[in-house]
Amino acid sequence: MRPIEDRPLSRASIATHGEGMSESRSVAGVVTAHRQLEGGGFPVRRPFPTAGLELVDPFLLLDEMGPVTWGPGEAIGAPDHPHRGFETVTYVLEGEVRHRDSQGHAGRIGPGDVQWMTAGAGVVHSEMPGEEMRERGGPMHGFQLWVNLPRAHKMRRPRYQEVPSERIPTVESDDGRVRVRVIAGEALGAKAVIDTHVPITYLHVTLQPGGALTQPLPRERAAFAYVFGGEGVVGGASVADGQMAVLRHDRDAVTLSVPEEAAGAMDVLLIAGQPLREPVARYGPFVMSTRGEIMQAIEDFQQGRMGAIEPEVVSD
Ligand code: MN
Repeated sequence: MRPIEDRPLSRASIATHGEGMSESRSVAGVVTAHRQLEGGGFPVRRPFPTAGLELVDPFLLLDEMGPVTWGPGEAIGAPDHPHRGFETVTYVLEGEVRHRDSQGHAGRIGPGDVQWMTAGAGVVHSEMPGEEMRERGGPMHGFQLWVNLPRAHKMRRPRYQEVPSERIPTVESDDGRVRVRVIAGEALGAKAVIDTHVPITYLHVTLQPGGALTQPLPRERAAFAYVFGGEGVVGGASVADGQMAVLRHDRDAVTLSVPEEAAGAMDVLLIAGQPLREPVARYGPFVMSTRGEIMQAIEDFQQGRMGAIEPEVVSD
């Protein structure tokens, strides 16, 4: 853990003299998320995939769900659909996602909770607002990250890791200006409880004005920072709400900071992982290594070999 500097970090001082910058990975490019509708029609901000950035190997997609405030009867989600060959990581900030699947799993992902689902050989699932939210409406905000699986693990048995908010380590810097929720990997001496196939770091970092964090990230790992509130500096580049900075492989750490004079805090997802460097064939909810494997996935789904969600048993 690096001591947090006491003096204010202005953008200029970071770019030219900042102590952290000499160690920080620099930014290869800044991407602005585009808005689109997903699932049954809920709004997302999607930094990638986008034209010119198909993936950040091993990451295939990042969706910011909402933020949206549903009115009564308006809330929608993603009804029954399959996945094969990768993992979906759902992190809810506000509202909830109720999930049911062909393996007989069912549950609720609420504020602060994470569900790390390894689809492996295949699941059919639904991700929906609960009954109360459908009736009364309410706020919804969260993330879904898609993580590719190594070719050797694509057909493994599906697995769920469900981590309630209270089991996600939350750590603060000594000066109290940086707070990190450690969803995967390690930060400020705290270690996540999630088990991943390749080394992955997934941090929710909140920096108050004047706050700075230098996070170790071995240079061989692909890494990006997605800002979803406020603005600040990542690896020497200015980044604002709805923008993602993709990091170069030029150092073994990255520095995030918010100038002392900033109007408010910056919220960032800092995500990094070991690249798989394997061929990627993707088609909708299936991510495999060859076109033939995609055709097989479509056939397996259509033939019901990924199962189906059992109708809910209603007893009276
Ligand atoms: Mn899904």
